[in-house]
Amino acid sequence: MKKIIAANWKNNGDKKFIKNYFEYFSKNLNNTNKNEIIFFPPDLYMDQIDKYKKQSNFSLGGQTLNTAGSDSDGSDLVLTSGTSSEMYINNGCSYILIGHSEIRQFSNFLIDGPKMDRRWTERETIILALQGSDSLQVIFCVGENEDDKNAGDTHTILSEQLDDLCYLKVKPKKFIVAYEPVWAIGSGKIPTLEDISFIHRFIKSSILEKLSSLKEKDIMVLYGGSVNLKNAKDILCAPHVDGVLIGGASLKVKEFTSICNLKI
Ligand code: PEP
Repeated sequence: MKKIIAANWKNNGDKKFIKNYFEYFSKNLNNTNKNEIIFFPPDLYMDQIDKYKKQSNFSLGGQTLNTAGSDSDGSDLVLTSGTSSEMYINNGCSYILIGHSEIRQFSNFLIDGPKMDRRWTERETIILALQGSDSLQVIFCVGENEDDKNAGDTHTILSEQLDDLCYLKVKPKKFIVAYEPVWAIGSGKIPTLEDISFIHRFIKSSILEKLSSLKEKDIMVLYGGSVNLKNAKDILCAPHVDGVLIGGASLKVKEFTSICNLKI
């Protein structure tokens, strides 16, 4: 199966950076590569990057949907600073990241003060993404924090987080989950390859248990957290790994291009 190699740029980059980045990327990306490459740039630069799609084969995605929920008649509530799924689609996006741990933490911060809650209901946001006229493919991020891991709660946390994706009135085209242990993001630490495979297997079985009509081929699980050129090939080749979501290393164009060009 085609693997996904996704770049989460967060709030990094500017016009000059993008020009230099894509001049290199377009020249050096191996176009016979069969993997699906996705960039998640800051919203303001979506258009700048969209024009390079003609030269190299990649897709675009939004980093989150800001939503105030929907009205009783199903229409979106207006929100200052919000970006709707239609706007992402209109700007060339076909994917949307939902539930990244930084967004979960920030939202809880706004609601509850500086504490990271175990659970943050994402259902409303996903439904809005899926209701778009030509719906976006959701990549749903899950992951335990260090305390959860040390308490042996990883599976419970992941299963609770997956409820938000599984118990929706509108179903995604495909179930794509990014497993991102919070303690591995930007820390240089990664789980063992055995642990990654084991947890990816758990995520797939947990979704199949919740939605018995689904087939395993409709589920993809990506790994995210301190992926770089040194560890990417091993991670991508580990059983049950269908791709990677890369933060820091995706900003280094030579490193990211080499990861995209890996023969897997
Ligand atoms: C991320 O923030 O989604 C991420 C995976 O970051 P990094 O690769 O820098 O750990």
